[in-house]
Amino acid sequence: VFNFSAGPAAIPLSVLQEVQAEMVCLPGAGASVMELSHRGKIFVDIIQQAEADLRTLLSIPETHEVLFLQGGAALQFSMIPANLLKDSQKTAQYLVTGTWGKKAIGEARKEGEVEATFDGSATNFDRIPAEGDCKISDDAAYLYYCSNETIQGVQFPTPPAAPTSVPLICDASSDFLSRPIDIANHGIVYACAQKNAGPAGLTVVIIRKDLIDRGNENLPGYLLYKNHSAAESMWNTPPTFGVYVLGKIVKWLLNDIGGLDTMAKQNAEKAAMLYEVIDANPDFYKGHAQADCRSKMNVTFNLPSDELLAEFVKEAATHKIENLKGHRSVGGIRASIYNAMPVEGVKTLAKFMTEFAAKNS
Ligand code: PLP
Repeated sequence: VFNFSAGPAAIPLSVLQEVQAEMVCLPGAGASVMELSHRGKIFVDIIQQAEADLRTLLSIPETHEVLFLQGGAALQFSMIPANLLKDSQKTAQYLVTGTWGKKAIGEARKEGEVEATFDGSATNFDRIPAEGDCKISDDAAYLYYCSNETIQGVQFPTPPAAPTSVPLICDASSDFLSRPIDIANHGIVYACAQKNAGPAGLTVVIIRKDLIDRGNENLPGYLLYKNHSAAESMWNTPPTFGVYVLGKIVKWLLNDIGGLDTMAKQNAEKAAMLYEVIDANPDFYKGHAQADCRSKMNVTFNLPSDELLAEFVKEAATHKIENLKGHRSVGGIRASIYNAMPVEGVKTLAKFMTEFAAKNS
């Protein structure tokens, strides 16, 4: 089927096939990758190669470390303020453009002073702040944003501006590896893996070195970035299978796709196909996000009635189009079109949308 799930989401078929071929016995290991010690040479080579390839793919500068953690993206909602806000006597500024930003600021509030410098809730999170709208203090603990709000389908086309004294923190969970991102410009970029980067259970945290040591030793050990950094992501057992799959996905992006510029171009083309149908049928489809921040990963829209919505989902399934129903807070449809969604799947959905509107208008 064409799997339009918001995550865990589709994984490139060639990667799944490679994983399948090596599942029982990894060549050279005589065992499954899941059975290998994380401290043995074979797995250490895997994790080091995954990091090296990720550094190449994202042009990660030497100023930043890569950590492979667990706890999902949600644990970062707490780890970031625990390390960078707690005891700092400063305020952390948040741009809240959707459900995930709202959850993140809620967790941060437990650690210290926070300010919702932008809060899109009044318009049900359909926009990003207009340029020049937000005043960021030179003395803020950090400026936090979510580059792509998965539920609302609202994406920053470019990162927000922060004073150079203020670390810029990005939850990139649902557009990680879908386009280039200027890591040098960020204090932290983090993402759970289960959209574009592998199976659930792995979180990638790319952190500027000078931020690593800020956490107080009294924090629970797992929450301290410096522990993970000092142990090269082996303070405890890392999610070995997830790191192994991530490594393969990064190689796929480098070698089969040809890098993130090409991936971004493909993703823009796929998204445009769906937005064109929405715009061509303005009395039938209502896009949720404002046009200047429409997500290229999660296309959200509504239909004229709940009956038509139910019928849309039911009929779509007969075209092998699955997992379209939007999140309950937004309603309507959410078509998630991550890297692994083939163009053919998006074409099939676009054609179905056009026909469905014509038939039911
Ligand atoms: N942030 C964003 C943008 C997400 O889309 C998600 C999950 O969908 C999360 C955070 C939470 O991720 P996790 O469930 O891995 O904690």
